Amino acid sequence: MSLRELYQEIVMDHYSDPRNFGKLDKADYTVHVNNPSCGDEIDLEIIVDNGKIEQVKFHGQGCVLSQASASMMTEMIQGKSITEIMNIADNFRYFITGKGEVNIDLEDLEIFEGVKQFPLRVKCACLAWSALREILQKI
Ligand code: ZN
Repeated sequence: MSLRELYQEIVMDHYSDPRNFGKLDKADYTVHVNNPSCGDEIDLEIIVDNGKIEQVKFHGQGCVLSQASASMMTEMIQGKSITEIMNIADNFRYFITGKGEVNIDLEDLEIFEGVKQFPLRVKCACLAWSALREILQKI
């Protein structure tokens, strides 16, 4: 299977069956972000306990890339500590912008390799991460 096929398979899987999709009853932090150039919207909600992301959910609408990326992000951050998550967020930004050195294993997020050359698509792939970054600044 080529990287491109793998990319399509993983992205379509997350888009058609998004993980952690919905709303939380009592979120500690919520944030709404949008990407006007594509029409993507994401609401991210989290519950923090003991310095960890105890629960995370998102809902939204938009292109395949923005929604699949949000789904993958929630799966990756669930249960992790705030420090760990900040590190992942920084590394994903280094990876997708090519500015900075990636020093962790980004696992499935590496399938976004092909997106790097399209700045408008980078915005789609990063939308959920910018929502996360906003929340992390409030904690
Ligand atoms: Zn988009």
